[in-house]
Amino acid sequence: MLFSLICPKCLHKGKYNIAQLNEENDYWRLFCQNCNHELLVVSHSEREQIIQGLALTEKYVPDILNAYKNLDLDKDTSSKVEFGRVREKD
Ligand SMILES: [Zn+2]
Repeated sequence: MLFSLICPKCLHKGKYNIAQLNEENDYWRLFCQNCNHELLVVSHSEREQIIQGLALTEKYVPDILNAYKNLDLDKDTSSKVEFGRVREKD
């Protein structure tokens, strides 16, 4: 489940896997591959929403964008998120 995020600090556009989120104090965090800036902090339920959203991308992409908008992310650290087509490995 890959998705791309643009770091608001260094503008690095990275490809991330949902499995790269690190669990810490009941939250899941994702850091920039380039400058280690914190890109994403989500709760367990939000993480589940993202996983479900990514799982649906092959079927109906617009739904994912709406699902992501509904997440209550901190405005200061929110990043531009782009969901591309995700394909399972053969
Ligand atoms: Zn960065």
